[in-house]
Formats: sequence, C-alpha cells, structure tokens
Amino acid sequence: MQQPLYVLSESSQRTSGLDARRSNAAAGRAVASAVRTTLGPRGMDKMLVDTAGDVVVTNDGATILGEMDIEHPAARMLVEVAESQESAVGDGTTTAAVLAGELLARAEDLLDDDVHATAVVEGYHEAMRLALDAVDGMVLDGAVDRDALVRLARSAMTGKGTGDLATDALAEIVADAVLQVADDDRRVDRDDIRVFARTGASAAATELVRGVVFEGEPATDTMPRGVEDAAVAVLDTTLDVRSGEVDTEYTITSADQLDAALSAEDAERRAIAETLAEAGVDVVFCSKKVSDPVAAYLADAGVLAFSNVTAAEARAVARATGARRLGTLDGIEADDLGAAASVRVERHGDDDVTFLEGTDDSRTVTLYVRGSTDHVVDETERAIDDALGVVVAAHEDGEVVPGAGAVEVAVADRLRSGASAVTGRKSLAVEAFADAVDAIPRTLAENAGLDPIDALVDLRARHEREGVAGVVIDGPSVDVADPADGDVVDPAAVKREALESATEAATMILRIDDVIAAN
Ligand code: ADP
Ligand code: MG
Repeated sequence: MQQPLYVLSESSQRTSGLDARRSNAAAGRAVASAVRTTLGPRGMDKMLVDTAGDVVVTNDGATILGEMDIEHPAARMLVEVAESQESAVGDGTTTAAVLAGELLARAEDLLDDDVHATAVVEGYHEAMRLALDAVDGMVLDGAVDRDALVRLARSAMTGKGTGDLATDALAEIVADAVLQVADDDRRVDRDDIRVFARTGASAAATELVRGVVFEGEPATDTMPRGVEDAAVAVLDTTLDVRSGEVDTEYTITSADQLDAALSAEDAERRAIAETLAEAGVDVVFCSKKVSDPVAAYLADAGVLAFSNVTAAEARAVARATGARRLGTLDGIEADDLGAAASVRVERHGDDDVTFLEGTDDSRTVTLYVRGSTDHVVDETERAIDDALGVVVAAHEDGEVVPGAGAVEVAVADRLRSGASAVTGRKSLAVEAFADAVDAIPRTLAENAGLDPIDALVDLRARHEREGVAGVVIDGPSVDVADPADGDVVDPAAVKREALESATEAATMILRIDDVIAAN
C-alpha cells in the first residue's frame, strides 16, 4: 500500500493565484501609505517607539521603514527598495517607496479587470524605459557648480526638522565637504566625510572641520593640549618596550641585575620618545597602546600623543594630513610624517574632544554636528546624510533636474502620450504607471495643504504651456511654478534610481503567484 504524499507540513499556509497577488499588493500599499505623509518639505514627522521604549522622531523614509517591525514578506520587499535606494544614491527613499506602493495599487486594479500579471509586468518595464527617457529630457543645462550643490543640499534638507536658518548654513557645509574630498575625476569616497555629533549647541553651530574630530584625550596630562603647524605621525605599533606583547622572564639573582634589567627597559622607552622627537614629530596618533612611561618621555619632549585611536580615526588622520601609516618606528623619517595646521584638545563637559585641522589638501573632513538635544542631533545627522547623498550623486554624475514633482509631471505626460504606441493590454499598464507617478506631485501638493486634484490639473496645464511645472514650496507660500527658478532641484541619479528600484520591486512582487509560509 502506498503512503500518502505530504509535500507541505500541515501547519504551513499557502495562498496562491489572485489571492496571493492581492494580499501582496495590499501589503505594499500599506507600507507606502505609512511614509507618504512625510514626503517633501511640508511632510510630517513620525514618532517611532521601539519595544524598549526608545523614541525616534524622524521624517526620513529609510529610517521609518527600517524601524518599523514589518512582517509581511511582500511589504519587506518595499523596505528593501528604500534600503537599496539609500545605499545607491543616499536620497529619494520616500519617493521610491511611495512609487512602488502606487505601482502595486494600480496593478491590483488591472488584475481585477482581468489583465494578466505578465502583461502588467511587461507594461511596467516598457513604461520605465519611457520614464527614464523623459528624465533625460529634463536634465538642466549648465555645470553643477558649488552654487548648484548648495541648492541641492538645501532642497534635500528642507522640512527635515533642521529649521530654515540652520538649513542654509548646513547646505553650504555639505557642499564644501563634498568639494573638499572629491578627487580629480569628481569621485567621492563617503568614508572621507566623517560626522561627529554632539549636543550642547544649536544646529546652526554645526561646522565643517577640514580634518578630523574625535573623542580622545592625550596619553598623559602633562602633554601639550594644542600644537600649531604640527608634524603628525600615524603609528600602528605599540609604543613600549618591544617585549611588551610577549611575557618575558628574567632570571635575576642579585639587586644589581634587577637594576640593570629595569634600566635597559627604561632606556628603550626613552629611545622610543627620542626617535620620534628627533624625526621632528609633534603629534602622534597611535592605534595601539602608548605605555605610561613612554607617554611621560614623550610629554617631556613636548610631543602630544593619543593612544588606542580607532582604525577609522587612524585612516582619517592619515588622509587629512598626508601621513604614512607606519607599522614600526625603524627608519622613520620626515617624509613619513603628515602636516596639520593645528591639533587642539578641548574640554566638552566631562570629555576631551580633539580637533585636528589639516591643510588645504586635506582629503578628509568632519562635519561637527551640533544640536540642542539628542533628537535634534540625530535628525540633523539624518538630514545631513541625505544631503550628502544628493550632493555626491550630483557632483559625480553632473546632472540635475527640476524638483518639486516637475520631473514626475513630465514623466507621466510622456507615458500617456507614449501609451498608444504600446501594443495590447500592456498599454493599460503604461497608463497605470503614469497614474502611479502622478502620486509624487499629488502627495507633495497634498502635504503642502493644496487640493491634490486641483493641483494636478494646474500642473498639467502649466507643463503643457511651459514644459516644466512643480509644486514649489517657499517658506509659507506654495505655487505651481518652475522649480528651477526657486532653486528646487534634484540629482537626475536620484530620480532614475527611484524609478528603477520601484519598478523592480513592484514587478518582482507581481510575479509571485504562490506564497507558501512555514509556520
Ligand atoms: P525622499 O526621501 O524621497 O527624498 P523627501 O521628503 O526628501 O523624500 O522629499 C523629496 C521631494 O521633495 C523631492 O521630490 C523634491 O524635489 C521635493 N522638494 C524639495 N524641496 C522642495 C520645495 N522647496 N518645494 C517643493 N518640493 C520640494
Ligand atoms: Mg530627501
């Protein structure tokens, strides 16, 4: 007799076909609607409370989705859209998530009207290609110079809880930071832009340090706390007697022998300090230990030293000063040293904070972020992070487009006029894609207190006449206008990435027709 064949365990759940698609689409829509009210400069904030009771107040799409405890597998895929958007271009996460959610919602309508999922998927892909074309057509003329970068940074930070005054100052800081570390091919290594955050002053006190800021105190109190025009050594070796890392044993039979052994060690320690002083070193950053006796000799020689700096700090100091990282003191010479305009240690509350100012060619900068409370500092950091992403993307690829929904209005227009050229039911999907893209200007308008339908009608009419129209928010006023006139611009890379990642996620979810969940 044959055994019955169980493929799935009894407790696993299975949904298939239209039910699976409906449930996935609904989950995606729910995620999108959770972030849509935060879109744009008039977006609202969300307060997120985790199981430990910790509170995060934020307006940042990636953070909100990251903190939300989302279980539904399809909804999790939308969270991944936001994450991939964040890591690819550093901004546009809300846009990408809203778009993906809208694409799913429109797809659901099509599925209800008996359009096959395959037709929807293919139509969405065609639509994406048309949309990318339309983005190309919106790229603004002219070089992306410092002014343009400042404008980009400002529009990326507007509405992020930094306050208007602070936003203007921060935007300049962000642009200067990126320009300082970019290489000749305009490439930027984000590790070269460090953020050091501290409460105790308003966000407007945030400053750009062309160098490194870190929490750290001199290896001993008797060292100088400030050095100008410093020659800097970065060492990855312990500053103590060589045998320090292995246990050494002396067989000592007399007091004389003990003295001799001790003074040999002492001479070695003194020699370490002398070697450094003779090489002309003023400041030492050591990623390993500096023993107390060596620190004392260094202090006697007027050398400032920091022990146990992190690997990231050592790298940053080397990048900021041009110092070579040395694994040994043997053969250390002037060439190995870097230059700093100044190194100073300041007392902040209970801690020492060290500021190293590099020179004009410093390849590392630190944004010293201030804020009155932890929440403000955190949100300022996130705003700066978005702005950095935007400015780096724009500086690297050199293309910007008008913001405030103008690109989306143009994309939707292009899709509607292109839909008729697409054959069969796929054209319905292209039209649905256009409706989904409309959600961006519509949501911007809605969040700014306009009637979304009236705003869309105005936007289309103006786009028809002038070729560009956005919902431009300037302080208290909201107008349908040319965003570039009001300095509202976005990097083309952010828009392209949002269209691509949203389409990819939505079509991936639509291709699923069977959900089998183990219990
Ligand atoms: P995202 O996570 O997608 O970047 P944001 O909340 O940062 O979400 O909103 C970005 C949108 O806000 C972009 O479409 C951008 O063009 C728009 N935007 C930025 N500043 C303004 C402004 N002053 N007026 C209108 N829209 C703006
Ligand atoms: Mg943004």
